[in-house]
Amino acid sequence: MTGKAMSRRRLLASAGLALPMVWIAGRSGQALAASIAAASEPLSFDALELSDSRWREALSPQAFRVLRDEGTEPAGSSPLDSVYDPGTYICAGCFLPLFSSEHKFDSGTGWPSFWRPLHEAHIDTKRDFKLIWPRTEYHCARCNGHQGHVFDDGPEPTGQRWCNNGVALKFIPDTEPLPALRSASDL
Ligand SMILES: [Zn+2]
Repeated sequence: MTGKAMSRRRLLASAGLALPMVWIAGRSGQALAASIAAASEPLSFDALELSDSRWREALSPQAFRVLRDEGTEPAGSSPLDSVYDPGTYICAGCFLPLFSSEHKFDSGTGWPSFWRPLHEAHIDTKRDFKLIWPRTEYHCARCNGHQGHVFDDGPEPTGQRWCNNGVALKFIPDTEPLPALRSASDL
């Protein structure tokens, strides 16, 4: 056998061993890419409309008061205020991803705060005149669940402070897959 043929055989043998590894790496790479895409691309979704009585059954009294009655949780009451692990914050009502840990900061207010939402298409806003001065209320674009208020005293690069009730969110660490959006039959 010539040296050239030998090296060709070795090359084929090592390629044969290497192929499954490449395949596995490719597969997990694709799965990872798909999970990142799920969080990084806006989702297309249908509105989730439920009666107040259905929501009352599905949510804790605290979550109901915030999500369905525009209440505000006491400052400092949410464990999520001090969470900074990598992950995604989803609507506690319908599971639509709303915020990323990449945009979370410590505002010192006692409420989880972000300098931008994950996707503008996942959030709707309206003017709120509950206090003397007008504020911009925001809510989940899918289930209309109230989340919080957005202010213009946040950090760079947006200068925005999305001040969120922790009880209106669920935190999903990057080590876990995002759950499917909740449908009426899940609630
Ligand atoms: Zn929602």
